[in-house]
Amino acid sequence: MEFRYLGNSGLKISELTYGNWLTHGSQVENEAALASVNAALDAGITTFDTADAYANTKAEKVLGKALKGQRRESLEIFTKVYWPTGPKGHNDSGLSRKHIMESIEGSLTRLKTDYVDLYQAHRFDVETPLEETMQAFADVVRQGKALYIGTSEWTADQLRQGQAIAKDLGFSLISNQPQYSMLWRVIEAEVVPASEELGISQIVWSPLAQGVLSGKYLPGAPLPKGSRATDKNGGANMISAWLRDDVLHAVQDLKPIAAEVGLDLPQLAVAWVLQNPNIAAAIIGASRPEQVTNNVKAVGVKLPEEVMQKIEAVMAPVAET
Ligand code: NDP
Repeated sequence: MEFRYLGNSGLKISELTYGNWLTHGSQVENEAALASVNAALDAGITTFDTADAYANTKAEKVLGKALKGQRRESLEIFTKVYWPTGPKGHNDSGLSRKHIMESIEGSLTRLKTDYVDLYQAHRFDVETPLEETMQAFADVVRQGKALYIGTSEWTADQLRQGQAIAKDLGFSLISNQPQYSMLWRVIEAEVVPASEELGISQIVWSPLAQGVLSGKYLPGAPLPKGSRATDKNGGANMISAWLRDDVLHAVQDLKPIAAEVGLDLPQLAVAWVLQNPNIAAAIIGASRPEQVTNNVKAVGVKLPEEVMQKIEAVMAPVAET
C-alpha cells in the first residue's frame, strides 16, 4: 500500500480507502461487513470513510465495531455531516453551528473514538453563512474532536471561499470528496485545477461507478444475483443511471486493454483513478472481502500513456465530463 499526503497537510492516508455507503447496516450482513474491513486492514488499508447519514447512522456503528481493538494511531477515520439521520426536525440538516456541534458528538459515540481524523461537509449549505460553518469546524478542531476538515462535492468557487475563511480562522481545508471514475470526470475542468492552487486533495468516491466498471453487468443479460443493482434497500436506485447499453458495451470493450497490462476490469478502473496526481485516494466499496483483496492489486500500477489513450478512445463517448 502507498500513502499520500492529504492536501497541504502532514496527514498521510492510504491511497485506497475503504468506504461503507450502502453496504454496512444495509445491503450486507454484519459478518460480511466485518470480513471486508478485516480484508482491508490485511491489505494495508488504514483509511476508512463513512458518514452519519449512511444507513441512518448504522454504517458508523458497524464501522466502529469492526475497528474496535485496532491501534487508533494506525488508522485514519473519516466521517461527514450535513444530512439528517433520523428525525427530520428543522435543525437536523445542513451546516449550521448547531447541527455540526450536535452531529460530531453522535458520530464519535457511534464510531467509538474520541476524535475523527477528517470531518467532512457532506455537501455545501447555501442557507447557512459560510463564516458560521467554518467557525464551527474551527471549534471542532480546537476541541480535538476532529483533527482535519474536508468537504464533499464542493464546486471550485465554494472551495475558494471556504479556504479563504478557514485560513483567516487559522486552519485549512485539506480535502474534497467528489465522484470520479472513467465514467464521471466532472471535476477535471474546474475542481481539480482550483484544488491544486488551494492545497486541497481529492479523495474520490465510486471509482468503479458502483460496480459497473467491474464488467459484471452485461448488456441485455439478467442482473447478477446479490449485486448492488438488485439491492432494494437503495443500491438498485443509485446505480440505475449507469446501466445503459452504450455504457455496458463500452465497459466490455475495456477488457482487452486491461489484459494488456495484466489487470482485470475492477483493477483497471481503480488504477485509472489513481493516475491523477491531485487524487490522494480512491474510496472503494465492497459487498464481500474478496472484492477488496482483488481491487487492492491496482495499487502502485502506472498505466502507460498508450494504454490511457486506448481507454480514452473507448470511454470518452460515454463519460460525463
Ligand atoms: P465503488 O465504485 O468502489 O463500488 C463498490 C461496489 O462495486 C461494491 O460494493 C460491489 O457491489 C462492487 N464491486 C467492488 N469490487 C468488485 C469486484 N472486484 N467485482 C465485482 N463487483 C465489485 O464505490 P462505492 O459506490 O461503494 O463508493 C465508495 C465509497 O465512496 C462509499 O462507501 C463512501 O465512503 C464514498 N461515497 C461518498 C459519497 C459522497 O457524497 N461523498 C457518495 C457515495 C459514496 P456489489 O457486489 O453489491 O455489486
